[in-house]
Amino acid sequence: PLSTTDRIEPQKISVCVRKRPLNKQEIIKKEIDVVSVPGKGVLLVHEPKHKVDLTKYLENQVFHFDYSFDETTTNDLVYKFTAKPLVQSVFEGGMATCFAYGQTGSGKTHTMGGDFIGKQQNSTKGIYAFAAQDVFTYLNHRRYANLELSAYVSFFEIYNGKVYDLLNKKAKLRVMEDDRQQVQVVGLEEVYVSTAEEVIKMIQMGSACRTSGQTSANANSSRSHAVLQIVLRRNDRATTLHGKFSLVDLAGNERGTDVSSNDRSTLVETAEINRSLLALKECIRSLGMNSDHIPFRMSTLTKVLRDSFIGEKSRICMESVVDSSVYDAMAQVAELEEKAYV
Ligand code: ADP
Ligand code: MG
Repeated sequence: PLSTTDRIEPQKISVCVRKRPLNKQEIIKKEIDVVSVPGKGVLLVHEPKHKVDLTKYLENQVFHFDYSFDETTTNDLVYKFTAKPLVQSVFEGGMATCFAYGQTGSGKTHTMGGDFIGKQQNSTKGIYAFAAQDVFTYLNHRRYANLELSAYVSFFEIYNGKVYDLLNKKAKLRVMEDDRQQVQVVGLEEVYVSTAEEVIKMIQMGSACRTSGQTSANANSSRSHAVLQIVLRRNDRATTLHGKFSLVDLAGNERGTDVSSNDRSTLVETAEINRSLLALKECIRSLGMNSDHIPFRMSTLTKVLRDSFIGEKSRICMESVVDSSVYDAMAQVAELEEKAYV
């Protein structure tokens, strides 16, 4: 298993997977845990052995990632191997993005936000909180002192391809691309922050007004992508952009069959989510192949994150989360396979 003393190799793209433990309900329903993490970067989906008719199930399947985290892994360890190296790269002038990707209920928000959002404080910290802490540790470090940087926070949501400012009463914002291909979210609120606590306060404020809807998978599923950005700017007159860290809690990648709704607006939502996740995968695949053409215009999500896909110092970390029950794991096999080949 991984330990906090392991060395981390910074990479342009890293793809990780985290397994969620069975929850109380799943244990009561006697769901079978068919996912295991037998080695570094390996994820195994087993046959449910007690079943009589094994032919119904796939053979054991092995998937490879840069890192794989089992159900005992804590958020701080996940942070150390996924987002922490990106914080460093942002101080070095990079544009970095960390995505939480997976089906509703498999642990995206738990990983990103921890369990403190909208609930009691001081419980599990997530990547947001750890990243915020490190940003201020670095800001106050003498190594970066001569850069004269300040930190700002933006927080917005992409719902049905539209951008809504979570720090400004959900104002609907336009995405513009100028003739130098620079993408801007026009009028996006950027709040100056001087402590990690202030960042957390902004996140709590913004999270309170996120769009949620109903699917059969989870009554409170997120149907939107939430993008938290910690922006570093120089303390010059133009407050020149130095680096940007985007932390994205993606909308649930529900499979078609999970959406039992006949409601037209739900179907439209789902189609849009699938379209944007596909666009994201396409961009990451192109990056992985060192292609000159990154199809970032395919969706609003990839458009606003253009900086992270293009440029020498861009870094991406895909953090996929999976649950451990047989039904879901089987449904997720295809997804994982795709991820593993990114
Ligand atoms: P998502 O955002 O992907 O829909 P959540 O993060 O809300 O899923 O997780 C669903 C539930 O499972 C939450 O109650 C959360 O606290 C719990 N959970 C998720 N991942 C873990 C984990 N690794 N360890 C313990 N509980 C978890
Ligand atoms: Mg969530």
